Amino acid sequence: MKAVLFYEHGGPEVLRYEDFPTPEPGPEDVLIQVKAAALNRLDLFVRQGWPGLKLAYPHIPGADAAGVVVAVGERVQDVAPGDRVVVNPTLSCGHCEFCMRGEDQLCADFRLLGEHVRGSYAEYLAVPARNVVKVPDGFPFEEAAAAGLVYVTAWHSLVTLGHVRPGETVLVVGAGGGVNTAYIQIAKLAGATVYVVGSSAEKLERARALGADVLIDRSQEDWSRAVFLKTNKRGVDIVVDNVGQATWFGSIRALRKGGRMLVVGNTSGPKFDLDIRYIFAKHLNIIGSTMGSRSDFATVMGLVFAGKLRSIVDTVMPLSQARAAHERLASQEHFGKIVLVP
Ligand SMILES: [Zn+2]
Repeated sequence: MKAVLFYEHGGPEVLRYEDFPTPEPGPEDVLIQVKAAALNRLDLFVRQGWPGLKLAYPHIPGADAAGVVVAVGERVQDVAPGDRVVVNPTLSCGHCEFCMRGEDQLCADFRLLGEHVRGSYAEYLAVPARNVVKVPDGFPFEEAAAAGLVYVTAWHSLVTLGHVRPGETVLVVGAGGGVNTAYIQIAKLAGATVYVVGSSAEKLERARALGADVLIDRSQEDWSRAVFLKTNKRGVDIVVDNVGQATWFGSIRALRKGGRMLVVGNTSGPKFDLDIRYIFAKHLNIIGSTMGSRSDFATVMGLVFAGKLRSIVDTVMPLSQARAAHERLASQEHFGKIVLVP
């Protein structure tokens, strides 16, 4: 099969489009002919590498995929060749204490497709049958693939852990990333008022089109002060921050007393010097989250398939153009997801 792979860490130039052996499905696996693979910022981090990251080279990046099942292992019963499926990228053992209670994102053997094992930038992909959800006929593969990681991440943190409720205020820090387009829509679906901080008027207008109620352009004003003033000096109930280092202080400042801070990423860097008096004096709840359970995945994908939540696709490119796709993602010029098609 053709695949995008790399033999060493580095910039987009390390990505190669080459032949690689088609994976063999194990007894509990399905083999999928990939019809669409979506990019995530994680793919850039994995390509660049970080201390402690150990990959089996050549590595194939990619956490998100949708496609058609072409073969199943001997113990697979509820998925058959010909089924259209989307892949849940959280791989878990299925039998540890956390998996047994349905919290496979906490699995002792948690692995992420495209990070700990070879991923979806390929013509074929083998994953456990329990990691696929069927895609309705007629629903585009590109939109299914684009939804997976960002929607399970947003649903698990905002709904399952964050308990967002109707009438609450939710601040999403960042407008253009795929995960932020998911947070805006889920918060609206839950009946919240959504504040969005963005870097340009154009991205904020697109956030408004997704339902965002209050737009704050961080290139024009001190955004956390603006949130404070626009909430009558109260602050918001929930902040979603996947930016990290550059925005943590502003996010804490923008929260009301007793507010919830959802920490779901660190695109600007991981280190931040925190005065812990802010935590106890403001009674803050700091909630860390990554990925979600199989139940979260099935629930939120059902809402995507029903049209309650939209998958925002920025660009669709051939798989062979993965390097250009990575460059576009790194440029921050995109709005929504970049999708590769084999
Ligand atoms: Zn487990």
